Amino acid sequence: MKYKRILLKLSGEALMGERAYGIDPKRLAEYAQEIKKIHDKNIEIAIVIGGGNIFRGVAGASNGMDRVQGDYMGMLATVINGMALQGALEEAGMPTRLQTALKIEAIAEPYIKRKATRHLEKGRVVIFGAGTGNPYFTTDTAAVLRGVEVSADVILKGTRVDGIYNADPEKDANAVKYDTITFGDVIAKGLNVMDSTAFTLSQENKLPIIVFDMNIEGNLLKICEGLNIGTTVTV
Ligand code: UDP
Repeated sequence: MKYKRILLKLSGEALMGERAYGIDPKRLAEYAQEIKKIHDKNIEIAIVIGGGNIFRGVAGASNGMDRVQGDYMGMLATVINGMALQGALEEAGMPTRLQTALKIEAIAEPYIKRKATRHLEKGRVVIFGAGTGNPYFTTDTAAVLRGVEVSADVILKGTRVDGIYNADPEKDANAVKYDTITFGDVIAKGLNVMDSTAFTLSQENKLPIIVFDMNIEGNLLKICEGLNIGTTVTV
């Protein structure tokens, strides 16, 4: 395996599957099986999950809600997704821990880096909920932050597109995919697959990001084996 410890970022929207809102149990079970394939190879797995399938602070703000209030609601949405994912992973036979940036002690451990690292060493899948715990951030930034903190070898951003293109491939048929690209180019060209805060944090800490299609069976394992099937963003 190319990587010993990975940080997998899954968006909340990915959990919707074919639905328009919420969580699709079928999709959740499929993701659990994909994650199991790399867990079986003894890869240490940390996961940050988004909340866009339930609530986004920006959407709340555009409807007149206070942005900070909305962002905390978004963070809580990521905890709901984290709990759902935890259940699916345990159902698939993996030991897990959920740690949250906002304290919700009845359901999750508070985020403690040393504890998280210990869980990873013991082969537990660690899910980080509630993003960074701060409004005005995203779970992409939380993914990079936690990845840097627990010394992950790479950030794997699982999406429904197979990499980074020079234009939106869902809108432009002539869009061309990059196999590799630098952080500098991603930011300069405004290729906003992740927000720029996430990219710059990763760039400053020399932590590569791979964007890949999580919805194709076996892709996560292939990435961990070192196959270049997505787009790798490096310094
Ligand atoms: N959020 C936040 N701080 C964070 C992470 C998330 O305030 O550190 C809020 C924000 O409102 C965001 C929502 O939680 O819109 C859901 O996260 P995100 O949009 O990143 O989810 P995804 O797009 O990955 O589903």
